[in-house]
Amino acid sequence: MTTLTTKSRFASVIIDAAASELDRIFSYEIPENLDLQVGSRVIVPFGRANRRIEGYVIGFSDSVDIPYDKVKQISLTLDDTPVFTPQLLELAKFMQEKYFSALSVCLACVIPVGIKMRNFLTKTKQALTAGIVLPKTPLQKKVFEYVSEYPKSFAEVVRAKTGVSSAVISSMIKNGALAAEDVTVRRVAESPNLNLCEPLALNPEQQNAFDFILEKIQKGDTKPTLIYGVTGSGKTEIYLQLIQRVISQGKTAIMLVPEISLTPQTVDIFTKRFGGRVAVTHSRLSAGERFDRWDMARRGEVSVIIGPRSAVFAPFTRIGIIIIDEEHENSYKSEHSPKYHAKEIAEFVAAQHGAQLVLGSATPSLETFFDVKNAKLDCVILKERINKTMPEIFVEDMRRELIEGNRSIFSRALYDAIKDTLSRREQVILFLNRRGHSTFVSCRNCGYVMSCDDCSVNYTYHQYENLLMCHYCGKVARILENCPACGSRYIKYFGIGTEKVQEETAKFFPKAATLRMDADTTSRKNSHEDILSAFRRREADILIGTQMIAKGLDYPNVTLVGVMCADISLNNGDFRSSETTFRLLTQVAGRAGRASAPGKVFIQTYFPEHYAVEFSKNHDYDGFYEHEISVRRSMNYPPFTKIFGIMFVGADEKNLIVLLYRLSQIMTAYNKNNMFGLIGPSPAAISKIKNNYRHKLIVKSEDEDKLRAFVLFCVGKLKETENTSNVEIFLTPNPLNTQ
Ligand code: ADP
Ligand code: ZN
Ligand code: ZN
Repeated sequence: MTTLTTKSRFASVIIDAAASELDRIFSYEIPENLDLQVGSRVIVPFGRANRRIEGYVIGFSDSVDIPYDKVKQISLTLDDTPVFTPQLLELAKFMQEKYFSALSVCLACVIPVGIKMRNFLTKTKQALTAGIVLPKTPLQKKVFEYVSEYPKSFAEVVRAKTGVSSAVISSMIKNGALAAEDVTVRRVAESPNLNLCEPLALNPEQQNAFDFILEKIQKGDTKPTLIYGVTGSGKTEIYLQLIQRVISQGKTAIMLVPEISLTPQTVDIFTKRFGGRVAVTHSRLSAGERFDRWDMARRGEVSVIIGPRSAVFAPFTRIGIIIIDEEHENSYKSEHSPKYHAKEIAEFVAAQHGAQLVLGSATPSLETFFDVKNAKLDCVILKERINKTMPEIFVEDMRRELIEGNRSIFSRALYDAIKDTLSRREQVILFLNRRGHSTFVSCRNCGYVMSCDDCSVNYTYHQYENLLMCHYCGKVARILENCPACGSRYIKYFGIGTEKVQEETAKFFPKAATLRMDADTTSRKNSHEDILSAFRRREADILIGTQMIAKGLDYPNVTLVGVMCADISLNNGDFRSSETTFRLLTQVAGRAGRASAPGKVFIQTYFPEHYAVEFSKNHDYDGFYEHEISVRRSMNYPPFTKIFGIMFVGADEKNLIVLLYRLSQIMTAYNKNNMFGLIGPSPAAISKIKNNYRHKLIVKSEDEDKLRAFVLFCVGKLKETENTSNVEIFLTPNPLNTQ
């Protein structure tokens, strides 16, 4: 092969396809009349048949290392502006490396969906202005007069105001009595009577936090900052005022919130402060709506983007601040490839722009607080709630309730408290992290448990539909009169879910109106918001729900929170289960007594001695952190090590186990200085989903880069020596759980 260097310029093109064999750079010649930049979207001839496919320009060169006559020409470019900036390209390359993904898949993260459809999804409308030729008929005159008075009126408005048909308008355009032009209209929610709100006067703790971060921004100190502030301490107001400062300096801001806290209430707070300068994104937007927000950010029509994790890819220039509220939230990690964490992306983007990264939480993730202790992060603390009162927390021992003859789902103390609260006409939240009615159905005679044939999961009984449901694959089954194993009629329902809580609540408090919020009641579009706003309008006294209601809600009239069973998340077998439980209890408790009336929280548990329960009772994150970090140290778990999850999935369980054992043998053989810790192989917590078996292996190491290299090397060796075509191999760096 000869290498030919020519004077002509070539473009390096990435083909828009996820297939790994296409995940490389292709060189194309640039026709003379074409003006390209990094980020230009192009159509190129590809393959033997010269199929025309889409690609992105990621660079230029003056030479190619294939024979010159083999180099094809770019056919055309699709847009007048690049679809990603050089900075976003850099980000995509960083993701490609870090998350083992094809570059085109990483680029897809920074480019909105809408753009994939050949042409930008810009929505235009025809605007009319009076032309130079005078109107002839009375109808034409009417239109002419209207448009003279209101130039640039949309055609549909002119038709409505004058009552003429579109045929009249078309003929006027044709003969020159009207001038028409297409103008871009944005698909964004209208904010009808937008009354902008003034900033609140900060209290001393807020002021201190604000000053600290603002000074860092002025000085260009880009070390990230954690705002560690108890629930209800007013973190949002600090974010708002920091963003205000940043945009008044001509810079832009990205505000990340968990999707679940992106309620109309939150959106309102932001639009009332920044008006048209803010765009909101969320997962329920159409491709067109998504495109418009992206395009507005790119063209500088907005300065602030608020949204869930994907908002971190906003195509802003001059980013001044990136804020991640509730930084501990699991939803910041993407479940599909590339499995990025928004915090990692935000760190990269903040470094590119010299922006300040602010994390906020009442219960920071252990990793984040560990970084604070090791001076990798600055930290400002808000110790007090705005209303100065923390809710009082009571722990109810459900074992004692049972011994003393109380078989109901309410402890006596919680029952009394609900009664009191209702009599004061205040509201109650009851929390249970499990949906459905009964969590398993079994035979009292032989012990047979009804479970899904396709997954290793017990069926959950749903009373409303009166059927059994698998929460993993969604399969439903009819309830049975007789045990399929022994034929007995002693079928019993065990374990409570939110549906059962609602039923029992209605039994014990028949006069109270209840609402339930879980995955079963929120599948319809907007139902999530409907339930919350109904509760806000006090159309119900008691809100029952799963973790959906634990996050970020701010209801002044809620003075009582009951946690029906704290043990569910304690017993899930993951090394983070204590942290998860402590956080959940603290967050749920944070929903009580946020306004002037003091709040009370009752935590029901069969394990009141557990440290996660005890520390949350005393609102003691610091104490919890010290305890938990010592556990992690002794077990060599994160943050002291990095972990890497390897999951094999396939229909042939035996083959899968053999291969995974083979991999662990390879790993042991190459694990020379015991640098790497191996856990497993073992079946995953859900060891079968939809008839596919799942087995896992966890690898730990102090050195993240070496860990990654080691795993890739060993998996490569396995693929060289064994036939792995029947298993799917999933590699997850820093998995959120080890199940
Ligand atoms: P956090 O995010 O820390 O849990 P929020 O930001 O939701 O707390 O604030 C709790 C409540 O206090 C909100 O209703 C908010 O409007 C109010 N608030 C915040 N700062 C102030 C202030 N400086 N003055 C008066 N009210 C405030
Ligand atoms: Zn039986
Ligand atoms: Zn199933």
